[in-house]
Amino acid sequence: KELPADKILENSRRQVLDACFSFVTPKKTANPKLIHVSKEMLEAIGLTSENATSEDFLKVFTGNTVLENTHPYAMCYGGHQFGNWAGQLGDGRAINLTEVVHNNKCWAIQLKGSGETPYSRTADGLAVLRSSVREYLCSEAMFHLGVPTTRALSLSLSGDEVLRDVMYNGNPAYEKGAIVSRLAPSFIRFGNFEILAARKQHLILQQLADYTIKHFYPKITSEGKQKHLDFLTEVRNQTIDMIVHWQRVGFVHGVMNTDNMSILGLTIDYGPYGWLEGYDFDWTPNTTDNQHKRYRYGNQFQIGLWNLFKLANALYPLIEEVEPLQEILDNYSTIYNAKYHQMMKSKIGLFTEDKDDKELIGRLEETLHLSETDMTIFFRNLSNITSEDSFEIAFDKIKGAFYSINEIQGEIINHWQDWFSRYFQRLQLETLSNKERKEKMDLVNPKYVLRNYMAKLAIDDADKGDYKLIDELYQLLKNPYSEQPEYEKWFAKRPEWARHKVGCSM
Ligand code: AMP
Ligand code: MG
Ligand code: MG
Repeated sequence: KELPADKILENSRRQVLDACFSFVTPKKTANPKLIHVSKEMLEAIGLTSENATSEDFLKVFTGNTVLENTHPYAMCYGGHQFGNWAGQLGDGRAINLTEVVHNNKCWAIQLKGSGETPYSRTADGLAVLRSSVREYLCSEAMFHLGVPTTRALSLSLSGDEVLRDVMYNGNPAYEKGAIVSRLAPSFIRFGNFEILAARKQHLILQQLADYTIKHFYPKITSEGKQKHLDFLTEVRNQTIDMIVHWQRVGFVHGVMNTDNMSILGLTIDYGPYGWLEGYDFDWTPNTTDNQHKRYRYGNQFQIGLWNLFKLANALYPLIEEVEPLQEILDNYSTIYNAKYHQMMKSKIGLFTEDKDDKELIGRLEETLHLSETDMTIFFRNLSNITSEDSFEIAFDKIKGAFYSINEIQGEIINHWQDWFSRYFQRLQLETLSNKERKEKMDLVNPKYVLRNYMAKLAIDDADKGDYKLIDELYQLLKNPYSEQPEYEKWFAKRPEWARHKVGCSM
């Protein structure tokens, strides 16, 4: 429909009151160029690879053309950043283009990096090639790992230069601008509710909650307060599922602020994320969080709960009773722990129950911390072990996971010996054959993940105009659980040059 005259598209920075979003116009770019497109996501919205070669496609998915009868908008949200209320944040560099319904599924389409919006605050609304390659590759990799996530459709250069840093010599450092188009059923976050509660806009808060429930939680059929309680329960469950998957594959989000928590429990906002190399509860990829390590691997589930508290506070005006809200949050840890336990059991190939399983898993986690041990390689190779192996044979099968094999002696080797002797005993209680157990383990322990240095190599090539590695990693990560002999080089520990050097945010 035509917009009424008072809905003038306006991108200027401001506090946006009494609204969930603002209409905006994406910025025109100097010289857009498509780098990569996802065939699968094209099909999801009813397009073909052929369509993606057109000039129209490029223009729409870089914000240079606004499709007729669509009204792009940026969403208003607030959030708690690193534990503190930050007020209005909003889509500072994301713009929702439109929604597409295809095969009974509705996809919201967003551009990331398409210029200033009312929510850009002091920043430019743009994204650089580096962060865009990281989001594009990682969100698709996560999907194929079976982790709930937003998706990516296309990666393009804008043709503009973006100022990101000032070099030590005082000269400005420009980087290539880029735009990712990304898709999700919805990009609504915890922060969309928080901002309305903070501003005491309870009517809009209720409208947003009811809209979200109607479209994205249609199974909720209760009414009144119960409806909003059921909503929080569902969001809690989705959040738990997402975080258990993160722990399973060794993904560390890095910025679990409440504005980066999807109300659908999708992994959203691929900023300074990283993948565990050494198995380490204390690791965070976020160099700005290095002191407190709030968002470290081993703390993600606690932060999930902390964030749900903030969401519960935001929903309180719709419920006005503390106890039922409290109960939903109180059950978080029990549910999480049970799911985490089942997940860890599946990683080590245990599918029957035994009272000592918790201890066995706890001991493994401790032992993995004794020396730097590559998470992906360890769990993947563990499935090659048979219940008849001696310790020496078993150890030989997993020792490729240690970053420094010389360290594995004395006390450390004793710990491994002890753990394996318990593990072998425990395997006697299993009913599956070695082969069956391996098949099941290989479906939960990926062989290929987007290690930080891999993304870095693809970015360095892309910066020079060579996009082959982006495509290679994209293809590789479509089948993270399959053996892909032609890509065996990516089943390897982080090379020494990449130690603590890579990491990337904005
Ligand atoms: P993040 O830490 O990526 O979740 O971003 C926090 C807030 O800053 C969000 O409101 C973002 O939209 C905004 N933001 C991040 N980068 C930019 C940018 N380059 N331009 C405008 N807003 C940004
Ligand atoms: Mg964000
Ligand atoms: Mg971000």
